[in-house]
Amino acid sequence: PIFPDLDHLRQQFPLLSRSVHGHPLVYLDNAATTQKPLSVIESVDRYYREQNANVHRAAHFLSACTTHAFEAARETARHFINARFAEEVIWTRGATEAINLVANSWGRSQLKEGDEIVLSRLEHHANIVPWQLLAETTGAIIKVIELDESGNLDLQQYQRLLSQKTRLVAIAHISNAIGTISPVKAIIELAHNAGALVLVDGSQAVAHQKVDVQALDADFYVFSGHKVYGPTGIGILYGRRELMESMPPWQGGGEMIERVSFSGTRFNSLPFKFEAGTPNIAGAIGLGKAMEFVSGIDSEAMNAHEDKLRKLVEDGLTSINDIRLIGQAKHKAPVVSFVSSHYHNQDIGLMLDQQGIAVRTGHHCAMPLMESLNLNGTVRASFAIYNSVDEVKAFVDALEKLHHTPLHDVIVDMKSEMAC
Ligand code: PMP
Repeated sequence: PIFPDLDHLRQQFPLLSRSVHGHPLVYLDNAATTQKPLSVIESVDRYYREQNANVHRAAHFLSACTTHAFEAARETARHFINARFAEEVIWTRGATEAINLVANSWGRSQLKEGDEIVLSRLEHHANIVPWQLLAETTGAIIKVIELDESGNLDLQQYQRLLSQKTRLVAIAHISNAIGTISPVKAIIELAHNAGALVLVDGSQAVAHQKVDVQALDADFYVFSGHKVYGPTGIGILYGRRELMESMPPWQGGGEMIERVSFSGTRFNSLPFKFEAGTPNIAGAIGLGKAMEFVSGIDSEAMNAHEDKLRKLVEDGLTSINDIRLIGQAKHKAPVVSFVSSHYHNQDIGLMLDQQGIAVRTGHHCAMPLMESLNLNGTVRASFAIYNSVDEVKAFVDALEKLHHTPLHDVIVDMKSEMAC
């Protein structure tokens, strides 16, 4: 498989050529959000300049164009995750809203006291808190799949958790905090054998691997557009058609109805039943372009490139005495989490920032995971398709230098009030 010319690819991302604190930007915070290619930026710009109108309503030309573009983006999404039908793709604000939709619609209508929801220790708060809220109102109980010391899910223990009481398994495809790739196919199969449904949080997966919801046999699959080179404020809930047809609406309003009268309301069919109100039209169109961008790159070549970056960083950091890598799962996404015995995570983040290197520090919205690791956070570098070997070398060099510098010599220049 041929990887695209990296310089050419980077030119498609205007933000990558800016500088930060007088240094060329090295953007290694891709698990938080990715930068956007020109095709996405231009599609959003063009939409507002030339096409802006509301969808599905008016009888005029612009509205027809917009509706066409909006529904074409849904079809792109269907194809991107290999869903059977376009109506299995619901536009949401992001992964968080998609999970809340399932918790509120499916969860509130289906769960009763004593039913069990299985989560994993790896989950992002977005895949924990909605289930806790649901458990509070329904009396359902949350069970947790634990990890081994390398950060792999303990499948034996998972199997022991499954029972007739298990109604849902909600699991991250890839951990945002330590990069573990979960064996979702096996997890889904085991859950189905126990009669439970599975929601996969694919937020960190879609930018790094080809996702096929039919091959996985997922019941629900969610992700945010902004982590896959698309705009913020838009994301996707995939759900199996029969399942979503049987689910009640979540939010009420325009678009989601077929007929309203004060004696009662008939709801619209899928996908509109779950899309109350005017949607993020520009976001959906932009996300469509982002998915086309990712689909245009050979996924094996992408994996090989991103894996190379990760290994370079892991090897580089392993040779720095004071640094400890966190999460060494067998299958890993391009995410490297670490702590230093010498410096606080936040100080490392600030010192890297002074050199134009963007990483994330903290608990990464995965406090239960941090708790089990006995940490209050890590420094996390996460890579994307556009990162280069030179960038990751600059990152490792900066950390090497830092660890040869006595603490009192590290003066962080807090000029960061500068104009953005
Ligand atoms: N799940 C995972 C694994 C994530 O990494 C994130 C974002 N960090 C989310 C869910 C939530 O995504 P959003 O805030 O875009 O809804």
